[in-house]
Amino acid sequence: MAQITCSFCGRNKKDVDLMVSGISAHICNFCIDQAYQILGEEDKNKKPGKNVKVKLKKPKELTEFLNQYVIGQYEAKKVLTVAVYNHFKRLLQKGEENDDIRIEKSNIIMVGDTGTGKTYLAKTLAKILEVPFCIADATVLTEAGYVGEDVESILTRLLQAADYNVEAAEKGIVYIDEIDKIARKSDNPSITRDVSGEGVQQALLKLLEGTVVNVPPQGGRKHPDQKMIAVNTENILFICGGAFDGIGRHIAKRLNTQPMGFNKYVEDRQVDRANLLQYVTAQDLKSFGLIPELIGRLPVVTHLDPLDRDTLKSILTEPKNALTKQYKKLIEMEGVKLVFEESGIDYIVEKAVEYNLGARGLRSICEAIITDAMYELPSDDSIKELVIDAKYAQEQFDKSKFKKLQVA
Ligand code: ADP
Repeated sequence: MAQITCSFCGRNKKDVDLMVSGISAHICNFCIDQAYQILGEEDKNKKPGKNVKVKLKKPKELTEFLNQYVIGQYEAKKVLTVAVYNHFKRLLQKGEENDDIRIEKSNIIMVGDTGTGKTYLAKTLAKILEVPFCIADATVLTEAGYVGEDVESILTRLLQAADYNVEAAEKGIVYIDEIDKIARKSDNPSITRDVSGEGVQQALLKLLEGTVVNVPPQGGRKHPDQKMIAVNTENILFICGGAFDGIGRHIAKRLNTQPMGFNKYVEDRQVDRANLLQYVTAQDLKSFGLIPELIGRLPVVTHLDPLDRDTLKSILTEPKNALTKQYKKLIEMEGVKLVFEESGIDYIVEKAVEYNLGARGLRSICEAIITDAMYELPSDDSIKELVIDAKYAQEQFDKSKFKKLQVA
């Protein structure tokens, strides 16, 4: 009797778990598996984009949404929402081929101290826009061919966020954090290559402007046999952010050396020395070490204000998912009512300011204060209410590692 073999791979029936027979051919379980995977891949490649509709939301509508989560930063919100609105209008304009006026891309750069909400703003925006969003860190990038990640790795992340739906990814938003860390090391072009600074800036240029990039789907090093996915970055909105430590000096210098007329103008407005970032311009970014070509591709420049006590207090209590609300919910699950007294809140804010931790520190300070209670409460049914006032907050805080930090 003739041996039954798989018509696709030639495996013998005895070497496989299952052999399905057709009229004049057979297929083994391995080939069925493989065929099924191919079908899935094909589906993914075909479907993209069909459901990717861009919803146009007006700047004020966007700001209202942002206000529920992000406190203050009105200037940044205005600039960001207008840029995003224009960006999406630009997407809608596509297709009207015979239109001579091409709206150009408006990538954004945000300058603001660490922990003032740059990432949070970008993330929250992406949430309302319902487009794929990813955060990339400029510090790990190096010029192609050097140890570190190539700039294409940014798009790998975006693809992953879009579930490999290429067309969705092509309308996504990328937040590039710590863009200031790839500033040119010095004003003099040196003989040694600057592969993690200027080299990366050069590599980013094409990406920001719009080009088709071959992206390794799983990230990592490129190698010749890897299947690449082509991604067009023309409609991807890039938002860059950085603390630009020390840029205040460049801003102050510029404000002081402006021609008479301008100087007078600035004097009239009274320069707010405590928040020099509000005067940031492309020129200052250049003095800081960004190359003009990169700045040209980030035409929208905005700043974030430093967080003062009142803002920190609002951040702690007001947003939709404010920390105090989160802790209340957590503790409520134990059947215990959590009350934050005004004095307790002030204490937490005070410590965040004292340790210069910004909004990011609020969480660690709260943890330090509430951890003991969260440890005890689940096993103690007698407690029905926990009040966090200044006294309780201080007692707990003094026991925590923060106090030790201060001693050191
Ligand atoms: P960075 O400016 O360094 O990117 P983030 O956006 O990561 O700072 O902010 C850190 C955290 O601080 C955020 O996750 C958010 O919870 C909180 N935060 C910072 N600024 C604000 C703000 N203006 N309103 C509400 N929360 C904020």
